[in-house]
Formats: sequence, C-alpha cells, structure tokens
Amino acid sequence: MRQPLAYELHDLLERGRDRQLRLAVTGLSRSGKTAFLTSLVNQLRHAGLEARLDLLPAARQGRLLGARRVSQQDLSVPRFPYDQAMSALAETPPRWPEPTHGISELRLVLRYRPAKRGWFAGETRQLTLDLFDYPGEWLLDLPLLAHNYLSWCRSQQALAGEQRRTHFASWHASVDSLDPAKEADEADLAEIAERYAEGLRAAREAGFADLQPGRFLLPGDLAGAPVLQFFPLPGLSEADPAALAALPPESNYATLARRFHHYQKHIVKPFYRDHFRRFDRQIVLVDLLGALNAGPERFEDLSRALANLMQSFDYGKRSLLSRLFAPRIDRLAIAATKADHVTPEQHPRLVALLEALLADPLKDLRFASVPVRALSLAAIRASEAREVEHRGQRTPALRATGLDGEPMLLYPGEVPERLPDSAFWARQGFSYPSFRPLPMEGGALPHIRMDTALDWLIGDKLQ
Ligand code: GDP
Repeated sequence: MRQPLAYELHDLLERGRDRQLRLAVTGLSRSGKTAFLTSLVNQLRHAGLEARLDLLPAARQGRLLGARRVSQQDLSVPRFPYDQAMSALAETPPRWPEPTHGISELRLVLRYRPAKRGWFAGETRQLTLDLFDYPGEWLLDLPLLAHNYLSWCRSQQALAGEQRRTHFASWHASVDSLDPAKEADEADLAEIAERYAEGLRAAREAGFADLQPGRFLLPGDLAGAPVLQFFPLPGLSEADPAALAALPPESNYATLARRFHHYQKHIVKPFYRDHFRRFDRQIVLVDLLGALNAGPERFEDLSRALANLMQSFDYGKRSLLSRLFAPRIDRLAIAATKADHVTPEQHPRLVALLEALLADPLKDLRFASVPVRALSLAAIRASEAREVEHRGQRTPALRATGLDGEPMLLYPGEVPERLPDSAFWARQGFSYPSFRPLPMEGGALPHIRMDTALDWLIGDKLQ
C-alpha cells in the first residue's frame, strides 16, 4: 500500500504532467459518427451548465467545470466541423449535420476538480482530450494486409451473394472477359476499376458493409489516383499460383497485383502507423437498427463487416495488428446508435443483440484483455418516449417528426434479443423511418446515455 506522503507526491506529479487522452470515434458510413462527435463536444462544453450527464460522476458531483476548444497539434488533419454541425441543428427546421468523409480532429481542454482532495483543496486540473473521427471503412482494409493479391481475389469472390452481385453487374460485364495474361491497357484498367468502385458504392447504398478496398468508398484526396485503379480478378479459384506469378510484369495480372501491394504499403499501413497506433481509447458505432430494418442479407453482411472491422482491436500477441503496429488502445466501447428509434424498454434488448452479433470478436477481445463495453445510445435524441392506450392497455410509444415535417406517434416494434431467425424476417414487424432532430432548447443537445459512454471512455481520467 502506498503511504500518505507517497500519495501526495503522486498527486503533485500528476498535476505537473500534461494529461492527455486521444479518443477516436469510428463506425461505418451513416452509423452516426458525426452526430456522436458533435454531441460529445456539445455535452462536455455544457457540462456543469445545462447538459444532463448524471451518469458521469465528475459531472454529477459538479467537479467537471467545462471544456474549451484549442488548436489541435497535427495541422495536416482537417478540423472536425463542430460549428457547422451545430448551426445545422439550430436551423428552423433543424437539420442533421453533413457527415464527415475522412479523418478529422478536434482538441478540447477539460477543467475539473479531482475527486480526492489532497493538500490543495479547491485546486483544478486539466485534461487535454484529442478527439478523432475516421471512417470504419478504413478498418475493413486491415484484413487486406493479410493477403497477397491472389488470395485477396479469392476471398472477394467468396463473398458474392445473389443480391450483392446485382450491384456489380456492369463490372462483371467488363472484367469477365479480361485475360490475366494479356498486356495491360491503362485506360481499360481505369475503366474497370471505376465500375468496381461504382459497384462498391451501389452495394453500400443498398446497405452492404463488407466492402473492400475501403478507400474506394471514401477516397478523400486519392480520387482518380492510379493506386485506386485495381480490383479483384474473378475466376482465379482454380488458377495455378506459380503460373500466375510467372506472368510478365506488363500483364493485367502482374499490374493489378503491383497496385494492390502499393495500396497495402502506401495507403493502408500509413493510416495504422500514423493515426490508429496512437489512439488511447476508441468507440465503434453501429447502426444495428438500420441493418435490422434492411433485411437478412444485409444484416448478415453487417455482421461480417463488423467481424472484419473488429480485427483492428484484436491485440492478441499473434494478431496481425500487434505484429505490424503495436497499438495501445486500452479501452474500447461498442455502441448501437440511434436508440431513440425504439421505445426505452427495448434498449436492453438492443444491447443484447449487439453482444450476440459481436459474440466472437468480443470473446477474442476479452481473451486478449482489452476492456470493452457494449451499450446503446442516441447521440442526438430525436424522439420522445410516450405511453398510449391501446386496446385498453397502456403501451410504450414514440413521438417524433418525420424528415418531411409530418408528426408521428409510433410503436417501432420489438428488437430481437438474439440473432434474428427466419421467423423474425418473415414477420419483419420493424419500422424505422428517419426522424428530424428536435428543435434546440438551450445549448445542450438531448441524448440517451451519452453520459454512460463518456464515463466509460474518459471517466477514470476525471478522478
Ligand atoms: P456518419 O456517416 O457515421 O457520420 O453518420 P451521421 O452522424 O451523419 O448519421 C447519419 C444519419 O443517422 C443522420 O443524418 C441522422 O439521420 C441519423 N442519426 C445519427 N445519430 C442519430 C441519433 O442519435 N438519433 C436519430 N434519431 N438519428 C440519428
């Protein structure tokens, strides 16, 4: 046990040290990252004022004194557009913020009073919180690092379900006749790659999530660069690897394989090395209700995409990630977002479903001793919970406004507690219309369990 004097010394050191935490937010497109980060910054800025953060002890105890934005350290990363997001929400009628498309950053300095008073009663401390937001699609590229071009082609072919294939029809029409051994034609490859990217985009629009390469969906400043002009060659499942490897460097196969390796080395690895490796904590957002609404094939696809994505948090000694990058995330949260789309008594079921969906990756994480917590939340609550009389019984319901301004009173249905079976899909009794954000009252955004998320992600640093 430490002696009292040692405690005081420890306190003194803590105070002298620049306390800093790098917290990253990710999730697939439309999972709610922009809404989450906007709300997180908003709640912390209004902590101690009108923000409702009872489940964050530092706020409940009145020790969290507020947060101020300061200039970020890394000037090459765009700043998260918090002001634009808040202006959209403050419009009449309110609008959802425009989503971000690449990595962005924002730095907050939190002031708080420590829970334990030492010699210096009434002292305040600071925590510098660096917030990052980046597309979960980029994490889908980690498994790609475990492949060479041939094994990647084969893995992609194995994915082709019936619905998924329809989105790639135009790509198939051109790639199926491409001879791997023929000399590559730049313009042809660019054209076929564009069709492949279109297929990926169409599949994403239709709700598919297990899509590689991730940068084809969100190229940022790489749009049109030759490094993004490759695609998997179909029909190689039976091909002889040695014969393919012996093809001349100008052949289609060798050219595509070179670009694939370039993509691994110059796009995927630098993200992990320069950003991911430096995050301390991470929250992964999942639009589980959206997938539930979209039907079995897409739900299955989300499950696969998440299993892929979660590999980026598997720190087991033998994991690809640990071998390559030695990351240091010491706490992870996984959240089912937009919980305001179901009535409150369904929230525990939503968490149970999330845990069921991620059962295998969660087991691996717990095995690798990465503390992880699953929860459900609404970053920006857009509905109000009500009770209505239905056939003489009081039943829960939601009141909200549709995107077109139409008022709604609805019971969205039951969330299955386990992975949905065919009986659930046959009933499909789930209703998920988009809601318009509530008009702003005061400065703090209404939310569900942002305080629980904050407590798990930064609460221990505010002790
Ligand atoms: P991103 O692509 O991950 O940044 O996702 P966004 O944050 O842009 O969210 C996508 C859409 O989901 C938004 O435009 C909203 O329609 C909806 N959304 C996000 N968060 C919430 C929430 O907390 N409640 C509700 N009802 N809808 C949300």
